Amino acid sequence: MLVASSRADVAHYFIEDDKTADEITRVRISRNAVMEEITRLQQDLPKDAPHELAALLDVHLMLLQDEQLISGVKHWIVDRHYNAEWALTTQYEIIARQFDDMEDEYLRERKADLEQVVERILRHMKGVASPVQPAAQAGAGRKLSQQDLLLDDTTDVPLVLVAHDLSPADMLQFKQSLFAGFATDVGGKTSHTAIVARSMDIPAVVGARSASQLIKQDDWVIIDGDAGVLIVDPSPIILAEYGFKQRQGELERQRLNRLKNTPSLTIDGQRVELLANIEMPEDTLGAVTAGAVGVGLFRSEFLFMGRSGKLPDEEEQYQAYRKAIEGMHGLPVTIRTVDIGSDKPLDRHAKAQDTHLNPALGLRAIRWSLADPPMFLTQLRAILRAAAHGQVNLLVPMLAHATEIRQTMSLIDHARATLDNNGTPYGPVRLGAMIEIPAAALTLKLFLKYFDFLSIGTNDLIQYTLAIDRADEAVSHLYDPCHPAVLRLIADTIAECDAQGKGVSVCGEMAGDVGMTRLLLGLGLRSFSMHPSQILAVKQQILRADASKLQPWAAQVLASEDPAVLLQSA
Ligand code: PEP
Ligand code: MG
Repeated sequence: MLVASSRADVAHYFIEDDKTADEITRVRISRNAVMEEITRLQQDLPKDAPHELAALLDVHLMLLQDEQLISGVKHWIVDRHYNAEWALTTQYEIIARQFDDMEDEYLRERKADLEQVVERILRHMKGVASPVQPAAQAGAGRKLSQQDLLLDDTTDVPLVLVAHDLSPADMLQFKQSLFAGFATDVGGKTSHTAIVARSMDIPAVVGARSASQLIKQDDWVIIDGDAGVLIVDPSPIILAEYGFKQRQGELERQRLNRLKNTPSLTIDGQRVELLANIEMPEDTLGAVTAGAVGVGLFRSEFLFMGRSGKLPDEEEQYQAYRKAIEGMHGLPVTIRTVDIGSDKPLDRHAKAQDTHLNPALGLRAIRWSLADPPMFLTQLRAILRAAAHGQVNLLVPMLAHATEIRQTMSLIDHARATLDNNGTPYGPVRLGAMIEIPAAALTLKLFLKYFDFLSIGTNDLIQYTLAIDRADEAVSHLYDPCHPAVLRLIADTIAECDAQGKGVSVCGEMAGDVGMTRLLLGLGLRSFSMHPSQILAVKQQILRADASKLQPWAAQVLASEDPAVLLQSA
């Protein structure tokens, strides 16, 4: 079941309850404008123009007044809360399919006319200023209830969303909805959109190229997130096979659930810390339920996204961080300072307008923060204040230069001084740096001079070591976590921290990948941070592992030309 339209260049977002009338007005104004345009064209037709041309314009005028088009668009806006463009293209696809099914060739060909008419309306809508803010942008994503999503006769049919692209902020909004799966045309496995999808523990396939064009509204689709495969209109045999797989998966989950309270120890008694990655304070519930012993990565930028640039003030941030801290009931929470930029734009329009050629190499993360000291100081004060309520680690993303480190330290001191001057209570924090740029991994001594702990962001470390845009599906086959250079940087970081008695964890997607657990253990890693949904499967690997035996094997893998081959055969 498909609920997104296949149009690549059309925005998809949910609108607020009280904005449906505005959205209908947007469509009406644009439709009327197109009707006027066509009427004018008709009037201006030269006398000797072919008769077919006038007839064609008549057809277009007729289609513009088609009751099924008008009432359908209203339905999607009012009942499903789709934005105008999404509603229009969704209804177009439904009618287009009816044209496809027509026996009469002349009528079948009218589909092209309908498409042109819809194109015209869409073009007009681009010019008609939107009187509404997209819900995702306003940061007030409407909570979708079962009723909202399953309004019509599809009540017990799971819905999947297939779209050209979804921003991480969109995904976050969908977190509250009931979609059973996602697929997007663009994106890599560790793009932030994929990361949020994974945190929802539902099947997702990203980088499916032209899926949104090929799959039509109301098609049946199987999304096999493990294999990265989409199956459209599956045969009964395939359906049965996937039904079986689903039940097996459910049984496996139930079995893993029994490990929830089992201490995370290797066979040879090594304790391994399993932490959670979260995007919002509410995610702590899932973290605690999965048995996480703390939050290893709170991606604070999700508090900043989808708000039309109006950033959260100190009080709002303080409340959010405090909520996360309280949600962990005394367990440590690692709050990463904002990592905006690259594939995490502040809002979707900012992405569209981003003219930088290489945003992943641009003003992102700590660079963005240091470029706006008042914004950064606001966040630092909020984190320090929240630290009065529990154990907090403050983690800084994407550092590479000594000057950046020193500026960051001085701003942290500045934030403390302001709180002191105002008599505002705050708590102690341990300071950590993310190792996600090769330059950082190659200057560990500098980092360890300033920081209490390090956290390896493998998603970016791989991207920057191999020069592979993690969000670009065209080069996703080259995005290789097992590349010897990547493994070498990870191994050296763990070893150097060990040597200096400093804490080190991995918080990239690699930490939650059960295929990598034994290698990371062998390299000496004892702290893994991942989505709560991955914790028990990784714990199972740990319980079965003998860390002392894994060490020499890991050294072999590290020395190998082709580590992936050794890993697979182990
Ligand atoms: C990483 O780069 O591995 C990481 C954890 O940070 P993010 O995925 O948010 O860039
Ligand atoms: Mg990163």
